[in-house]
Amino acid sequence: MEDKRLHSNFDYESALNVQKGIEQPDIINNSYLSRMRAIKKAEPTVEELVAGILEGNRTLLSRAITLVESTLPAHQDKAQAVIERCLPYSGKSIRLGITGVPGAGKSTTIEALGTMLTSHNHKVAVLAIDPSSERSGGSILGDKTRMEALSIDPNAFIRPSPSAGSLGGVARKTREIILLCEAAGFDVIIVETVGVGQSEVAAHSMVDFFLLLQLANTGDELQGIKRGIMEMADMITINKSDIDKTKSELAATQYRNALHLFPMPESGWLPKVMLSSAYSGMGIEELWNNVMDYVAFTKSNGYFYQKRQKQNIRILSETIEASLKEHFYNNEIVEHELATAKENILADKVSGYKAAEQLIALYFDNISKNK
Ligand code: GDP
Repeated sequence: MEDKRLHSNFDYESALNVQKGIEQPDIINNSYLSRMRAIKKAEPTVEELVAGILEGNRTLLSRAITLVESTLPAHQDKAQAVIERCLPYSGKSIRLGITGVPGAGKSTTIEALGTMLTSHNHKVAVLAIDPSSERSGGSILGDKTRMEALSIDPNAFIRPSPSAGSLGGVARKTREIILLCEAAGFDVIIVETVGVGQSEVAAHSMVDFFLLLQLANTGDELQGIKRGIMEMADMITINKSDIDKTKSELAATQYRNALHLFPMPESGWLPKVMLSSAYSGMGIEELWNNVMDYVAFTKSNGYFYQKRQKQNIRILSETIEASLKEHFYNNEIVEHELATAKENILADKVSGYKAAEQLIALYFDNISKNK
């Protein structure tokens, strides 16, 4: 056979010679890739979103969460359709709330706990409730460097708080995001709150277990603020105990004594107080063991399911209240008359009660006319 190299103007091996190269094998499933590219470009359908979530596809999970967070009615409708279809696949996780004042070590603890759990084949989703957060302004969890290892862990999913809005709105969105994450196969859901104010109550209303992180040196004043939150806690850990173990042990004893003064919680579970150090990892395994003990205990006495059912009933009443309120304030007559009512109250022409009665009467009159 003729050797082509002999007729060539330059050496066949020369880099100037363009060679055809060999056919490349498929690196990964091409049909999957083209499906994903198509979905990335276009708005995915409800079916595509649901199928993707159930496959554990993070891109589609994030897209669905974006719809949940959107205020556009069309997005909301689509989000509700996705949630409805994911509902049968949800509910199988352990939902853990973590609170503590800023700087108590919540994200460091979540990082330590989360990586421990993913190394034991758990899939961990970390969500947050922070009604004051503006995504762009570096919200809680928005800054990925706070959980460096977890944010690149393929078995973890971190999502910042839905952006600023009413606490009720943020809480509702977070509850819906929990359901989507569960349908996507996350079996531990951690809900972090900022540790200042009402967001704890909201977080408590959506989790199975509520952990309060405390520091050994918080002054009496701060502990006073935490009283209500302490009553909600299923466990308290004195974090950063590596700094001063003696002080931390003293603080733990004080908390144990304080907890004894509270009435026994409905769960029948006396909250434990332990020491932890998110830095050294000390206490993190005990923390998780305690969560598991609590789950086993409350599943055996029935409280675990009762609590979830109560939470679901609460969603019903909260949603009704929120919808009625929205409907009322968006009513054209109410919108029109509200300013006048306020002026009349300020001018002492009418009491707040009377003005409210009149507005409500106008509202009902208006909706019955428009039927
Ligand atoms: P968060 O605001 O509650 O989320 O607190 P962070 O997790 O961001 O922690 C606040 C600061 O405390 C950071 O500088 C952490 O590095 C530090 N920190 C967190 N946990 C520990 C701990 O167990 N020991 C020590 N010494 N420092 C810690």
